[in-house]
Amino acid sequence: MCGIVGYTGGKEAYPVILKGLKRLEYRGYDSSGVALINSGLKVYKKKGKVAELEESVIGKDLHAHVGIGHTRWATHGEPSDRNAHPHVSNSGELAMIHNGIIENYVPIKNDLLKKGYTFSSDTDTEVLLNFIEDIKKNNNCTLEEALRIALKRIVGAYCILLVAADDPETIIAARKGSPLVIGIGKGEHFLASDASPIIEYTKEVVYVNDYEIAIVRPNELILKNLGNEKQTPFITKLDMELAAIEKGGYDHFMIKEIHEQSDTIHDCLRGRLLVEQSQIVMSGIEDHLEALTHAQRMVIVACGTSWHAGLIAEYMIEELCRIPVEVEYASEFRYRNPIIHKGDVIIAISQSGETADTLVALEKAKEQGAFIFGVVNAVGSSIARISHAGAYTHAGPEIGVASTKAFTGQLAVLAMMALKIGYSKGTISHERYLKLINELDAIPEKVTEILQDTSNIQAIATKYKDAHDFLFLGRGYNFPVALEGALKLKEISYIHAEGYPAAEMKHGPIALVDENLPVVFVATKDSYYEKIVSNVQEIKARKGKVIAIATTSDTVISSMADDTMFVPDTDEVIAPLLSVIPLQLLSYYVGIAKGIDVDKPRNLAKSVTVE
Ligand code: GLU
Repeated sequence: MCGIVGYTGGKEAYPVILKGLKRLEYRGYDSSGVALINSGLKVYKKKGKVAELEESVIGKDLHAHVGIGHTRWATHGEPSDRNAHPHVSNSGELAMIHNGIIENYVPIKNDLLKKGYTFSSDTDTEVLLNFIEDIKKNNNCTLEEALRIALKRIVGAYCILLVAADDPETIIAARKGSPLVIGIGKGEHFLASDASPIIEYTKEVVYVNDYEIAIVRPNELILKNLGNEKQTPFITKLDMELAAIEKGGYDHFMIKEIHEQSDTIHDCLRGRLLVEQSQIVMSGIEDHLEALTHAQRMVIVACGTSWHAGLIAEYMIEELCRIPVEVEYASEFRYRNPIIHKGDVIIAISQSGETADTLVALEKAKEQGAFIFGVVNAVGSSIARISHAGAYTHAGPEIGVASTKAFTGQLAVLAMMALKIGYSKGTISHERYLKLINELDAIPEKVTEILQDTSNIQAIATKYKDAHDFLFLGRGYNFPVALEGALKLKEISYIHAEGYPAAEMKHGPIALVDENLPVVFVATKDSYYEKIVSNVQEIKARKGKVIAIATTSDTVISSMADDTMFVPDTDEVIAPLLSVIPLQLLSYYVGIAKGIDVDKPRNLAKSVTVE
């Protein structure tokens, strides 16, 4: 969470930082601020979105060639001007921004209070900053040395950028657990939480590793570990275009990303799904076929929407590969001393590849001998780097806070994975394999078909926008789709929604049904179809309003439902790739009808890099 930008070089720092913060705003947007160095420190910060900071600094002295900026997702202290970053140390000499949580900040703060330090915010960040200042003063050492000592004493996660009034060229950065990328320009350097603020200036970047400190000046980048040993920066070339992170004529990133799905799924399949050769080419699987086909058990760890993709993968892998699968919330898995056997395969699913809980869960499983396979969207991210093998989803940068195209990319990767492993193991017949790869190949075109005319979905959204609650029901492969539909609606419209297995509703949720409750059935033609038709009847018998996702020309469901959204027919294993799309659109249009900023819904942030 939270976005970090820094600049040192010949350009004016403020415009670079401001633009960068706008690109990173999806990571947090409850306040923002900048610190600029030019004959001393100038710090401007403001509660609210970056546009409010921009407004508040009009007419102020913004001239500087070095600066740092932050857009916050509060963990310690309410969103307010005073809790906004950057924070300034007691001497007024140091300013710092931080992404993460310092877990042992309370005892450190108490010690500093005893020494007479004062605090103007409630944040853990301000404590770390003054801790560094105190160490510097007591040890009469350099700022870099003081930082190193402080980092060895703190517990938690951080990416920090630190500047000093008396050093108008240098930014000192450090990371553990929260991401940091450094862009290398000509006589200038850019620092950011991800590559989006950097891409238009340079494609050469260094992904800083955990426990590394970077000393960054216009013409110099020094990387060191916490033992003060120099590290060789590993320069990577960014494979991303500027257009991919702009709205391109759409009103919101979310709707742009929904509409991109035909292309992003196609990109994900391209070069991997070779229909004419009846082959799936995935080097991450081929190079580790033994570990994957002989796995006694697979454990999928993920959070949020990625966890829903994991639930669908459970159905896919168990059916096609006959390997038992467990799907775990990373945040629970990591803390309950999980039983891992050597040879277990852990599949981590994460859009950002930086999800804090997933990352730690993987580190633990890796220590215990598990084989880690990462399904990640952000190239070069932490999860991608700590995995033994993996497959990128190739969905391109996802900026909208509610995940859409990353989810369908994950499903496409997981389907190919299950097919490849299952076919190699012999747990899937040649005939079924061929049918499924052909069906998968046809998905992008069918997605285009759904997206061609969304006016019906828009009308349904307008009709139900004032409902207080929604129930989403599905069976089999479509049960996790129901969960995802409910999550999307909650995120984007603030309407309470619950997802349930359709049969399970009789064990409780059916008590909620009355003429005011919209019940969304994900009821495409599959092996559970007859059963779900009965479930629709049960809701209708209790006067619930039924909104159905049905297979094109299914008149049985559409005659029972109050409203129907159609999707083309496909095999049930990959049906979620289609059935989720009307649900993404439904939540988008309900959010719009309610006047919500769908790209930045309240309290949320895109990549959850704190616990
Ligand atoms: N813990 C810090 C705060 O609450 C940083 C949170 C963040 O990552 O945005 O201000």
